[in-house]
Amino acid sequence: MESRYLRRDKYGNLIETPKQLFQRVAHAVAQAELQWGTDKDASCWERRFLDVMMDLRFLPNSPTLMNAGTPSGQLSACFVLPVYDHLADIFSALRLAALIQQHAGGTGFNFSHLRPKNDRLHRTQGTAAGPVSFMKIFNATTEYVKQGGKRRGANMGILGIDHPDIEEFITCKRKEGNLRNFNISIGISDAFMAALEQDASWKLIHPNTQQVVKKIKARQLWDLVTESAWTSGDPGLIFLDTINTFNPTPDIGKIEATNPCGEVPLLSNESCNLGSINLSRFVDDHQGQTTLDWNGLAQTVNIAVRFLDNVIEINNYLSPEMRKIALGNRKIGLGVMGWAEALSKLEIPYESNKAVHLAERLMKFIAENSWNASKGLCKERGVFQNWEKSIYYPNSPVRNATRTSIAPTGTISIIADTSSSIEPFFALAYQRQHILQDETLEEINNSLIRYMQRHQIEPSVVTEHIQQTGTLSGLVSIPEKMKNIFKTALEIAPLWHLRHQTAFQKYTDNAVSKTINLPKEATREDVDFIYKTAWREGLKGITIFRYHSRNSQVIQKGILS
Ligand code: ADP
Repeated sequence: MESRYLRRDKYGNLIETPKQLFQRVAHAVAQAELQWGTDKDASCWERRFLDVMMDLRFLPNSPTLMNAGTPSGQLSACFVLPVYDHLADIFSALRLAALIQQHAGGTGFNFSHLRPKNDRLHRTQGTAAGPVSFMKIFNATTEYVKQGGKRRGANMGILGIDHPDIEEFITCKRKEGNLRNFNISIGISDAFMAALEQDASWKLIHPNTQQVVKKIKARQLWDLVTESAWTSGDPGLIFLDTINTFNPTPDIGKIEATNPCGEVPLLSNESCNLGSINLSRFVDDHQGQTTLDWNGLAQTVNIAVRFLDNVIEINNYLSPEMRKIALGNRKIGLGVMGWAEALSKLEIPYESNKAVHLAERLMKFIAENSWNASKGLCKERGVFQNWEKSIYYPNSPVRNATRTSIAPTGTISIIADTSSSIEPFFALAYQRQHILQDETLEEINNSLIRYMQRHQIEPSVVTEHIQQTGTLSGLVSIPEKMKNIFKTALEIAPLWHLRHQTAFQKYTDNAVSKTINLPKEATREDVDFIYKTAWREGLKGITIFRYHSRNSQVIQKGILS
């Protein structure tokens, strides 16, 4: 928090404590209340907002923590910008991306409208650079626009599977270091998946003339994708037809892209504010019996939805188009973090049907309560402006076109001192590499320490073992049950990762950001299977990461490894 979030004066001296940060944010966000209520209402909600944050039950996304109540005032984490096939438009998108990243937001783009590389340019008699070349310019911009010196920005780059440059795009991140400020995803259509299933050929089509530029076996492209993902983790897939089936405002536009980590599919120029509920804070311990506090959870969801709707009001928009569509659809993305920690407190292994059923039940509960909260706000404040053009018209008046989304919570889960998002524990002891400073942080899993205290297990042997391996595997002196509860990401079979993603997606309006971790020994066929299953199960996107397929990765397992 000190290096990234707490405010400093112009000499670089800290001028805020963590408590003052939460007070600043609660106060700024509660100001929106004044449009509909009294000073008393505003201070009443300010207190509730402060309580849920101080208690680490709910945290908004990083830009809100950094910028609420400051001159920046840019509070959203997620943006999608259109990139049209004209030089001026490409550089307009680049300009906006730079501004968004300067204010801590992440940007997603679909580059499929750009004409392919080496296409003839009539006006200048030259040839076109193509999507991948332009991405290099976006990448370089991100490299140098540090967010107030706090962190480097993030991008999502998408290219449709029928674009003539798709083969170059699929392999563009294979070499380590290439386009390092981009996550890349292939925009997959149901038609492509059908061609793949029938082992048919697939047409690559010029985006402007609609002419067929090349025919290639669907399987050949698919193999290139899975091989690249196996080699380097990129590309992921985004399933655009599935996404558009759930588009709440199809008459406003088609969705072509997501934000950098994939959890929010958005229309052009649209943004979204995220916030996450820390599930581990809702597991109560009554004399050794752990239970879920459903009432407390319902109350926090209600406060969180109001908080995020307020953020839309007080937000500073960087262009008139962005303002119009954000106010038009009022998308918010409430999600969760601390899932693995909650499961470990409940003593339920991640790799179990019980965990997957609870995931569904929990997310259904959060979705229903978010829906009710948004409906309640609608009675006080009115429907979102595009409601009459939405799938909710005429029977379901609601304040927000989407309400839920599961973000990676990369930083806010560290602030909340819990496991990130819906991911299993990565390791039980690990070194975390500080991205901006040359510093590593060493950590031992708190839940494990608490479990050992609760079950009177002597910690010294366990601690020594996990410091070397990061896991409990191979330790003979402890019960099997404990080993199952504390299985880590790479010990958990990929299919179980996928099952959790599917369970949460079932009740999430937007998408679920999840990394399917694979052990180093995983094969290309494993990647093939996961990517196909993800599509069949109706997921909106999929990302894998095979351990050590890149030399530099943010978290390493085992302090001594
Ligand atoms: P946090 O924990 O910091 O709130 P998450 O890890 O949950 O953020 O990411 C949520 C979204 O925030 C991402 O999908 C992306 O849109 C944006 N984001 C995350 N990290 C960055 C970054 N370094 N630069 C720009 N945007 C980012």
